[in-house]
Amino acid sequence: MESFYQDVLRRIKKASEIIKLPEQIEEVILNPQRIIQLSLTLKRDNGNIETYKAYRVQHNDAPGPFKGGIRFHADTDLDEVSALATLMSLKNSVVNLPYGGAKGGIGVDPRSLSEAELERLSREYVNAIHNVIGPRKDIPAPDVNTNGQIMAWMADQYSLLNNNYLPGVFTGKPMNFGGSFGRDIATSFGGIVVLEEFLKKEKKLIKKQNSEITIAIQGAGNAGANAARILSKKGYKIIAISDSKGGILNKNGLKIEAILDEYQEEKRKDSSVTITESGGEFQKITNKELLELTVDILIPAALENQINNENAKKIKTKIVLELANGPVTFDANEALFENKVTVLPGILANAGGVVGSYFEWVQNNSGDRWSKEDVLGKIETKMKEAFADLDLVKTKLKTDYHTAAFASSILKLQEAMKTRGRI
Ligand code: GLU
Repeated sequence: MESFYQDVLRRIKKASEIIKLPEQIEEVILNPQRIIQLSLTLKRDNGNIETYKAYRVQHNDAPGPFKGGIRFHADTDLDEVSALATLMSLKNSVVNLPYGGAKGGIGVDPRSLSEAELERLSREYVNAIHNVIGPRKDIPAPDVNTNGQIMAWMADQYSLLNNNYLPGVFTGKPMNFGGSFGRDIATSFGGIVVLEEFLKKEKKLIKKQNSEITIAIQGAGNAGANAARILSKKGYKIIAISDSKGGILNKNGLKIEAILDEYQEEKRKDSSVTITESGGEFQKITNKELLELTVDILIPAALENQINNENAKKIKTKIVLELANGPVTFDANEALFENKVTVLPGILANAGGVVGSYFEWVQNNSGDRWSKEDVLGKIETKMKEAFADLDLVKTKLKTDYHTAAFASSILKLQEAMKTRGRI
């Protein structure tokens, strides 16, 4: 099977062919500007020494400083981080942010660490990369299994190393250390703006009231759980949700608020709990079964490579909203397109997170603080504009949203490199 990075490179090649991008420029985009590979040493609470592989891949900074999250996951490796860094450059271009793309990660299961160990490892990571990050160089943020607390430790470590208060070097921080209202729900909020813009445009696709529109969500982390909460407030019927250990289904609709309240409360006490242990009326299903449910909208909000050659033909939905990065593989995207399933691509659909980060960074740079309504209003405007732009490109190129998003962002990246005289 192809790796995640090879899959992303294939998409770039396909889009480049459509827009007739010169091969030499394609070569620039296929290669990250800088790849950092580290071995981090952690002294465990019991005195044992452990070594973890860690990475920061800086893909392209022609449009502005590098920007992109940091994930902690046992399976994180250089291939994955390179794919995600490349996607970040394209994502930032799709939503017209003045940023290039980067991504970082540590190959660790954070649930295996105590809080003190997690803090030491987070600070160690910053010690190792502090020379190449900065509020005007590279601005990391949360991603899978990282959160505001981890960003706070990292931003504090960076500030200590520079003997300066520099919160703008990380985004997704807590509210009392330069965080922004709305950043916590920004990914989901932005994705739902895109979804509803699409539904407004394709009125005939689902001719139902919100309360009859069925939705399944894979993932109950920041993106999945907040999406479930927002969609349920808007009256949609969430029939299934999962975490990494399994999922729950109620065809009449889950009482999602109550289930998530309990799940998140329990998870704070014990990070190994699963959503299937929550109270409520539902049957247990596997993640595989969740993806193959008959629903109007399917939201993969966990990891990459979830809808692939093996299950693409079994997907029974009208719309896939990619809240995760790269959940639908290249081949699966082609198969879904053939089966008339619309995939709203992650580099637009989950860009609300980095748009929220951008507004946090602007506030850090100006020392200002905006209200939640202000921030969400600004995110909504950006996402609507980006969707309208992408829709035009899609019509012009007569292709699917995925390919159109890659094509238009590659063109923007090319323009930025030209303007700066890099190509
Ligand atoms: N990790 C998020 C993403 O993949 C957010 C990145 C950011 O805010 O820089 O888009």
